[in-house]
Amino acid sequence: MIDLHTHSTCSDGSETPTHVIELAHSTGCGAVALTDHDGLSGIDAARERADELGIQFVPGCEVSCKYSPGTQHVLCYYVEPGEGPLQDQLERLRSDRTTRNDRLIARLNELGIPITEELLVEEAGAATIGRPHFAAVLVRLGAVQSYQDAFDSLLAKGGPAYFPKAFIDAPITIEAAKGSGALAVLAHPLSMGLEPTELERQVAELAEAGLAGMECWYGRYSAEERQGLVDIAKRHGLVATGGSDFHGSYKPDLSVGTGRGDLYVPDSALDDLATRRP
Ligand code: AMP
Ligand code: ZN
Ligand code: FE
Ligand code: FE
Repeated sequence: MIDLHTHSTCSDGSETPTHVIELAHSTGCGAVALTDHDGLSGIDAARERADELGIQFVPGCEVSCKYSPGTQHVLCYYVEPGEGPLQDQLERLRSDRTTRNDRLIARLNELGIPITEELLVEEAGAATIGRPHFAAVLVRLGAVQSYQDAFDSLLAKGGPAYFPKAFIDAPITIEAAKGSGALAVLAHPLSMGLEPTELERQVAELAEAGLAGMECWYGRYSAEERQGLVDIAKRHGLVATGGSDFHGSYKPDLSVGTGRGDLYVPDSALDDLATRRP
């Protein structure tokens, strides 16, 4: 059993990278990937703990790609902190977030809400500051009734304090991953919200662009959905991979390795992926 999709406090999970590895080890995973959103800051600590415990570690990240109306996420595996085209793209996303956060603070101040960067840093800890942290601080300041109210009345798309964030096109992500010696895998493909024929066409396009694999055994998918995705992956020469999408207490239904209890990602998924490494 392995888990190729987990998040830590370095993006939007509740557990530290070290603890994610410990959870994977205690559950009996032979290998685990840390795939925080848009960043690699947890990789070093995670690897160190994995080495101590003797569990195989795969450094990764998850990139949100430009897509609508659904969401399209690409997991990148075997990517190391440091220099490279994929790392450059991640840096671009981070600096865009900083600009966006500054504008968001300014707008909320204009609206008479005394939110500050300090309060957000305090709220986010090691994580990248995003709208969930704004929402939490807005609640603390008494500016909104609830976390959800913060989105509904201010932060959601179309709201008075909404600013879009930067996304990278999937083909660019795939190409950048390649340039960094990494492999790109389409995450939770059903989140694109496509009908079967459209899904098939989209997967074919991404495979053509150099996608290495597709996440089929996903924590929140049914047995039928998982099998359907395995069949699609096979048809397009993609490695079938899988993972829980563990976020700790933020997605309390999902455990490392076992998802909702019925997840089982075979070790062969990682063996197959490894054969695709450039
Ligand atoms: P960001 O990456 O800063 O745009 O924040 C995205 C996160 O905000 C999502 O992962 C959700 O957790 C949260 N979020 C976005 N839209 C809503 C919404 N309408 N209601 C509640 N939470 C939302
Ligand atoms: Zn997440
Ligand atoms: Fe995702
Ligand atoms: Fe994820």
